[in-house]
Amino acid sequence: MNIRQEDDYIIINGFKFEGEISNERCKHCNSQKIRNDQYDAYFCPSCNTWLEEKCSDPYCHYCPQRPDKPIPEQYVK
Ligand SMILES: [Zn+2]
Ligand SMILES: [Zn+2]
Repeated sequence: MNIRQEDDYIIINGFKFEGEISNERCKHCNSQKIRNDQYDAYFCPSCNTWLEEKCSDPYCHYCPQRPDKPIPEQYVK
């Protein structure tokens, strides 16, 4: 998996979004967590799972739009 930070963006296998690489690590696989600014949430790129539950606010700006997988299927190799 190819993960790069470019200014305010993260690029994972060509999938680009606003975010930041965290110093914290995934408890499952020890990969560095990545923050997606668009959804205001952290995820693990290796597990391809969000590391935070969605909140229960139906008017939240972030959670209702958040996809099931942080990295779309076509970018996962
Ligand atoms: Zn992980
Ligand atoms: Zn929310």
